[in-house]
Amino acid sequence: MSQRTKIKALLESEETHIEVTVKGWIRTFRNNQFIALNDGSTNNNIQVVVDFENTDPNLLKRLTTGAAISVTGELVPSLGKGQKVEIKAKTIEVLGDCDPEKYPLQPKKHRLEFLREIAHLRFRTNTFGAVFRIRNSMAFAIHQFFYERGFVYLHTPIITASDAEGAGETFHVTNFDLANPPKTESGEVDFKQDFFGRATNLTVSGQLEGELGALALSDIYTFGPTFRAENSNTTRHLAEFWMIEPEMAFYDLVDNMNLAEELLKHLIKYVLEKHPDDVEFLSQRLEDEEKQKPQHERSEMSLVEKLKFCLENDFERLTYTEAIEILKESTPNKKKKFQYPIEGWGTDLQSEHERYLVEKHFKKPVILTDYPKQIKAFYMRQNEPDAQGRETVRAMDILFPGIGEIVGGSQREERLDKLEQRMDEMGIPKDELWWYLDTRRFGTCPHAGFGLGFERMIQFVTGMNNIRDVIPFPRFPKNAEF
Ligand code: ATP
Ligand code: MN
Repeated sequence: MSQRTKIKALLESEETHIEVTVKGWIRTFRNNQFIALNDGSTNNNIQVVVDFENTDPNLLKRLTTGAAISVTGELVPSLGKGQKVEIKAKTIEVLGDCDPEKYPLQPKKHRLEFLREIAHLRFRTNTFGAVFRIRNSMAFAIHQFFYERGFVYLHTPIITASDAEGAGETFHVTNFDLANPPKTESGEVDFKQDFFGRATNLTVSGQLEGELGALALSDIYTFGPTFRAENSNTTRHLAEFWMIEPEMAFYDLVDNMNLAEELLKHLIKYVLEKHPDDVEFLSQRLEDEEKQKPQHERSEMSLVEKLKFCLENDFERLTYTEAIEILKESTPNKKKKFQYPIEGWGTDLQSEHERYLVEKHFKKPVILTDYPKQIKAFYMRQNEPDAQGRETVRAMDILFPGIGEIVGGSQREERLDKLEQRMDEMGIPKDELWWYLDTRRFGTCPHAGFGLGFERMIQFVTGMNNIRDVIPFPRFPKNAEF
């Protein structure tokens, strides 16, 4: 194998008139002369100039869109516009032919829905190349952010016996012959005879185990796959998604919000710095897409502007109670434009309300805190009731334009008696979570944490509208192809 240089490096090369070898897939071949070659290292193609008069016509015929080739030639300054350098081919070898009659990817714009059906090939498009390069960088930036701050990357289990919030919606893990599982005398499935000797499921969150780590290592984070069998066919939910869950000892809710805001800004900044070409391409893609929409539905800012805006402005912080007041007095509420009108205090906000706050009222990311106790999980720290006796918890949700909830977190209830009381009220089995409660029995301390949905963050940064287009192989109801 001869030494090959990646296209990204060649396009940035200061040196010309050197012999180079490139390998990649043909995007287009024009006039029997110009190959646009891409190897995935950058969104930009390198132009290969073919001396067609001195090239075997049989070889020319095999230079089709999608074919894999190896080219050796001279890197020269380009006369054409749009590129600094190009390659004058000396030898071209076809590594893998690609029948243009059968190849599903044509050199034209394809619909995202169609590309989802050929997800095994969609990496070869400009859009998905950009999305998955950014996804990769963002994963790195997340580890870098926490590593630099002394956080321990803790691997929490994927198979668990607990359902973190008691919210249900788990995928069962079993070794049973499903047609004929062993039964107990009373006729129920006997999980004592299953692989783990008990009923198990795929994790819905690593938080509870994460807390165990934080109460010894101080600052930890998890970053792994998460599974929820929620039957919600939305543009923001997957059945398998990746979540980042930091958990910090001696943090209160304000420390927690500060860290989350810092992390989100770090990620945006990182992508803007490292992927100017990809972001620019995606920004243009979004603008073209928006042109199909009626004027009033188009966003006021381009993708790049939106990202910079988020970087440069503090997120708006307010309580649930304050948000309800704003929503109650809002024009859409008074004109009965909300599908779910805001009547009283205590119900959960719908995405139409969140979007109003973020996109219309504040026009920037919003952190809502101190939600009613009734609508939040058992482990959130309880506030003293307010003057009207309303009970809230130290929760925080971060809401982003176009996405809605991107982060959910809270200060955790560290007081054993309060925690047990809440578990009883909500019917959470204390005996099953004995290990969780042990942290409150032995050296408990104030602590806090949050969960950031990795794909939702990628959606925001890439401007992709559907979450199924920011994970290589999306899992959602009735789909597990590839
Ligand atoms: P939502 O109300 O949007 O369903 P949630 O309240 O269920 O979110 P959490 O349990 O707080 O979310 O999870 C933390 C984060 O994980 C969310 O803020 C979101 O970014 C992400 N997330 C939650 N569910 C999904 C999902 N099904 N697919 C992708 N990301 C998700
Ligand atoms: Mn949910």
